[in-house]
Amino acid sequence: MNKNVVKVGAISIGKEPVVIAGPCSIEGEKAFIDEVEFLYSKGIRLVRGGAYKPRTSPYSFQGLGNEALQIIKKAKSLYDIYVVSEVMDPREVEVVYEVCDMLQVGSRNMANYSLLKEIGRQDKPVILKRGMSATIEEWLLAAEYIVNEGNRGVILCERGIRTFETYTRNTLDLSAVVAVHELSPYPIIVDPSHGTGRRSMVISMAKAAIACGADGVMVEVHPEPERALSDGEQSLDYSGFEKLLNELHSL
Ligand code: PEP
Ligand code: MN
Repeated sequence: MNKNVVKVGAISIGKEPVVIAGPCSIEGEKAFIDEVEFLYSKGIRLVRGGAYKPRTSPYSFQGLGNEALQIIKKAKSLYDIYVVSEVMDPREVEVVYEVCDMLQVGSRNMANYSLLKEIGRQDKPVILKRGMSATIEEWLLAAEYIVNEGNRGVILCERGIRTFETYTRNTLDLSAVVAVHELSPYPIIVDPSHGTGRRSMVISMAKAAIACGADGVMVEVHPEPERALSDGEQSLDYSGFEKLLNELHSL
């Protein structure tokens, strides 16, 4: 199958593997700008950072919302970066579109068809994460909801699926990378952070993802993971992230 190449500013996704990195959630202006400074110094141009967070518990930190979007704007004015952030509701598309370079549809919203159609009407790339209980066929059909509205910039993201296993947060399905390449033209990246839920597994699974043909990885990074407001257990600290980059470069 011919592969799409999705352009994000000067960067092409679907050619050489890319690394998207950043905190699970944007926790404050200084925190995020410091994180971007670190990532930028390591050559990272594609940065993630959650503003609207889909938390399992309504009592967990829900993200800084619009305040986080203003922080992204500030970071973009200081560094030559491209930022992706999640949109949970069709009513958020406009504000996230204004600030971010890529939109993200999270696992919990893969089958939110009105959101997919609204994003399909935008002209910015979208990372469509696999629903945690979605088959590959359902995921590819979700992508068609976006493409059919005109947005051809779909990038799929394997982020693990629910199985009977509990040692890991999810079961990372790397065979989906091969399947997506066999069945569709979309670039596919892998999120080993949500895919395993365990920091100790992120580097191995990121390398495995690239080895089986993924077009990139998206990882969570935090300077002090034990203090993170969300997903600290699966976030790499700075030295872990440097190790990840070194190991990916030596593949
Ligand atoms: C995320 O990437 O911040 C996220 C919430 O991931 P997922 O939708 O895969 O759970
Ligand atoms: Mn997270």
